[in-house]
Amino acid sequence: FPIIRAQSSPDFVPDANFYKIEAILRPWRVQQVSSALLKMGIRGVTVSDVRGFGAQGGLTERQAGSEFSEDKFVAKVKMEIVVSKDQVEGVIAKIIEEARTGEIGDGKIFLIPISDVIRVRTGERGEKAERMVGGHADMSSALSTS
Ligand code: ATP
Ligand code: GLN
Repeated sequence: FPIIRAQSSPDFVPDANFYKIEAILRPWRVQQVSSALLKMGIRGVTVSDVRGFGAQGGLTERQAGSEFSEDKFVAKVKMEIVVSKDQVEGVIAKIIEEARTGEIGDGKIFLIPISDVIRVRTGERGEKAERMVGGHADMSSALSTS
């Protein structure tokens, strides 16, 4: 057997204070995902309607046995959520919990290191710009001080 190296050994994972969680999901699960995120204090979310091609699209294509054509793309929603490093795993777990059906086409999540966050209104950068009033960090600190 050929030796297959892990794509990302810890040495090569870029470290950052903030990460973008980019989730490509079934459109009809997005409301459920976003309300669960809001409940945990994730108040900053960007969504876009996108069309994609993955295992689900490929399956359709093979069954049809026809040439690739644009209408094989499946409608999806892309959610982009920038969070602080310590919030990454909790948010990913919540997205999976709310978006998973177990069928092909549930989607994929990409994790992207973010080098900075800038709030346009104030010019704030870094943690000051990323924190949101009443957000997850505020909720957590309210719990630990009460
Ligand atoms: P303020 O200046 O008071 O922070 P604002 O209206 O200028 O308010 P927000 O409402 O916080 O800024 O954000 C504007 C848009 O940016 C949101 O509608 C959302 O699409 C996107 N956004 C904000 N924060 C995040 C985040 N953490 N992750 C993903 N998208 C975000
Ligand atoms: N990290 C921010 C906070 O705790 C929330 C980020 C977000 O809502 N996407 O205030």
